[in-house]
Amino acid sequence: MTENEKSGMFDWFRMIAAILVISIHTSPLETINPYADIFLTRIISRTAVPFFFMVTGFYTNLERPKSAILKLTKMYLAVTLLYLPLSIYSGYFSGFSLGKALKMLVFDGYYYHLWYFPACIMGIFIVHFLEKISAKNAFAIAIILYIIGVFGDSYYGIALPPLKIFYSILFSVFSYTRNGLFFAPIFLLLGSILKKTSVKFDPKKVVVAAEISFVLMTAEAFLLKCSNTPRHDSMYVFLIPTMLFLFALLNSVKIRQQPILRKISMWIYIIHPLIIIVLRGISKIFSENFFEKRELLLFILTAVFSFIFSIFAVIITRKARNLYNALHCPTARAWAEIDVNALRNNVEFLRKISPKNSELMPAVKANAYGHGAVLIAQELNKMGVRAFCVATADEGAELRKHGIRGEILILGYTHPAQFPLLRFFRLSQTIVSYEYAKMLNNYGKIHCHIGIDTGMRRLGIRSEEQGKIQRIFEMKNLVIDGIFTHLSADETTSPSDMSFTEQQSERFYNIVESLAESGYYPKVHLLASYGLLNYSYLGGDYVRVGIALYGGVENTKLLPVLSLKTRVTSVRKVYKGEPIGYGLTSVANEDMHVASLAIGYADGLPRALSDGQCSVLINGQRAPIIGKICMDQAIIDVSQMQVKQGDIAVVIGTSGDEMITANEIAARADTIPNDILSRIGSRVVVCKK
Ligand SMILES: *Cc1c(COP(=O)(O)O)cnc(C)c1O
Repeated sequence: MTENEKSGMFDWFRMIAAILVISIHTSPLETINPYADIFLTRIISRTAVPFFFMVTGFYTNLERPKSAILKLTKMYLAVTLLYLPLSIYSGYFSGFSLGKALKMLVFDGYYYHLWYFPACIMGIFIVHFLEKISAKNAFAIAIILYIIGVFGDSYYGIALPPLKIFYSILFSVFSYTRNGLFFAPIFLLLGSILKKTSVKFDPKKVVVAAEISFVLMTAEAFLLKCSNTPRHDSMYVFLIPTMLFLFALLNSVKIRQQPILRKISMWIYIIHPLIIIVLRGISKIFSENFFEKRELLLFILTAVFSFIFSIFAVIITRKARNLYNALHCPTARAWAEIDVNALRNNVEFLRKISPKNSELMPAVKANAYGHGAVLIAQELNKMGVRAFCVATADEGAELRKHGIRGEILILGYTHPAQFPLLRFFRLSQTIVSYEYAKMLNNYGKIHCHIGIDTGMRRLGIRSEEQGKIQRIFEMKNLVIDGIFTHLSADETTSPSDMSFTEQQSERFYNIVESLAESGYYPKVHLLASYGLLNYSYLGGDYVRVGIALYGGVENTKLLPVLSLKTRVTSVRKVYKGEPIGYGLTSVANEDMHVASLAIGYADGLPRALSDGQCSVLINGQRAPIIGKICMDQAIIDVSQMQVKQGDIAVVIGTSGDEMITANEIAARADTIPNDILSRIGSRVVVCKK
């Protein structure tokens, strides 16, 4: 048996513990024999909750308890919501105050059994910190806390008067010492110690020890009860050895784990008070106090119905979880992986080579060149980037909806019907022509950058039209934050490209100067990726980097940020002479093995790369694409390798020592990497590496 298959007794005892908790809340033997009832509900059943704490301590990594605490907190809040209507109905909120609400939330719970959750959370916190501060003393401190708790619980009657004052202060903060501060830590700690210990107990001796401890605890409980000492009866001195030996005993029996029992027992714990209420409500049909003197019946019915409902709850939550997982399985088909470290590397490098006092204004248009605009902008925000450019108002709005901070400049034309988006989402609009500036001004106060056409002949005011540019600055509603131009021949430093680029720059800076003479000092920008790499001396307040940021240029300092991956969906044999794929364009010239991939041209794999024009990587080997690339699928030749269904194929990225870049694919498809990356389809889910 593996480690996981050993402690199955815990799962079975959880069920017993859950039933014992029901007995505490129904007193089944009350009418039959009050002493027997005390024995069952005040003594035997008092092992239930400590047991739950101990298994939690046993299975939780108390050094790194974050995930356990998060899970418990979510559960606590959900269960609290479930019980809130009931607790309001039952008067838990009479004399409501913030202090009381807080006290209930942190200690007592909003319904009588819910104290368990905050106690468990607080207990885990305490044990975590005790072990961190001093692992040696953690146990002693937990014992001291427990002893303090005992005198506020079953030994309350013999606490001396000065102590009573101390406790009255405590009880103004919480109702019982049976809580996360005094009760839970020792049991959580015991569970975790028993997990770590390698000492093998002799089962026979453990049985005897457990029996002796339990007899002593029984005697202790009855003595206290007869002398009327307890204020509450959850905490006994002999509960600790009893639990220790009981737990060791359960742990020594090696049977298979039953995870489903964990869930059912948890649901029984959560749901049984609700069942009790419903049963009492229904019983009123027969008589007002039907269950008086019929406690055993109430107990049995509660146990049975709690069990049935718990099974339903387990089935329903399991189905819901499976469906949720199915809907959120990003790597099931074709997906893009984003390497945030590569992105950071590129940001740092581009900042280093940027002109003095200029800031990055990354282009995150077209879904950040297929990288996922929101994800990329969020990461860039974390790296201190405070300006972005996009192509459309919708792209800008999308970023704002996801909390992206900083300036967002729309580089393209926005239809007047979308002007309200500019105001609402605080987007800056490019002025694409003089007429357009007037339309924007008529709409109302809008932040703008003026586009200057210095040679691209695409958008913006022609650089000769200085007068118009001046007049735009005078328009009363427009807030002109910047002016910019775009270089059309910055990809190389060949003499012709360089002279054209410098001409564009000169035209642009002439305008900047004349504006300064008129007292206008907008931010200025003209460099995109290649401009920055080749002509950084042209300066500017912003650099609008796109493809360089994503590592899509030939530069050893810039790393590719995106990997495009997919899965093998089927592997089959094809015989010599058989055609493969649409249109009979590829024919097997010998017996071969082919595999299908879950990626096609709708996902951004250019159809032009059909019939062997490109390869994908599987286990570090190149597999050529054969036949025509389909809309959702592609076929590869895997005759030279071992491949099975579900294997990952890398379309862009590395595998073993092999690497395929967006540039390589672009070159094969006779285009640029920007084209390849921005074409990645919306069906491709983006996730972090
Ligand atoms: C897309 C775009 C950029 C970014 O271009 P890269 O070459 O990818 O850096 C910069 N400025 C304008 C106006 C753009 O349209």
